[in-house]
Amino acid sequence: MIRLKNEKQIDGIRTSCRMLSAMYRELIPLVKAGVETIEIDRWTRDWIKKAGGKPAFLGYGNKSNPFPAAICISINEEVIHGIPAKRKIAGGDLVSLDCGINLGGFISDQALTLEIGKVSAEARRLNRATRECLNRGIAAARAGDRLLMIARAVSGYAQEEGFGVVRDFCGHGVGFDIHEDPSVPNYPHGPNPRMGRGLVIAIEPMINLGTGDVEILEDGWTVVTADGRLSSHWEHTVAVFPDHTEMLTEALEI
Ligand code: MG
Ligand code: MG
Repeated sequence: MIRLKNEKQIDGIRTSCRMLSAMYRELIPLVKAGVETIEIDRWTRDWIKKAGGKPAFLGYGNKSNPFPAAICISINEEVIHGIPAKRKIAGGDLVSLDCGINLGGFISDQALTLEIGKVSAEARRLNRATRECLNRGIAAARAGDRLLMIARAVSGYAQEEGFGVVRDFCGHGVGFDIHEDPSVPNYPHGPNPRMGRGLVIAIEPMINLGTGDVEILEDGWTVVTADGRLSSHWEHTVAVFPDHTEMLTEALEI
């Protein structure tokens, strides 16, 4: 069931989203070659705590294997849900960061993919195209239109550029929980409700250099490309109003 949000609730979600984008603004310059991904997680937990929020992803999932970190860090062929560890970031990596904050019960969700040092031309092209997929997806989120317009915008551009679209994972409703209805796929399939006033969704294209097929590693979380080629991931939380759609998380200068 889709839970539409009223103006006051959107205010709360917006505040959570602004906090998350503020965190990223401080974090991005710290994500460099030589840094262990676990250090980024530690920094993220501290920042959120000091700001008065709670890391929304920490402990998420089923009880036997909850997500063990505040931030997902997915490198190169890792698509999403990478677990911070002792691994060091290296020059030439594509590093996706995905984080959410629970601020007084209001949940935000934002992801971006950083190019560390000098990346390959194809990595840069993939990353720029994925960011453009997100922009096109947001532009297609309009009150009165059907949800799969977003999927058509994202997959249409990705395919034009010759990239693979991940189908097994989707965007989602967000705001009261990390994952709410509706699913917001990047490829047109499944339910296609009309988007209405008060819809708050995370739009998050996951685009691969090669095939869109993915696999999950034995840790039960890390999603990787089936062919081992690069992946990129960008995400904003947006709110649909009758006459416009607002990005609640903020665009970051990278
Ligand atoms: Mg996310
Ligand atoms: Mg999300």
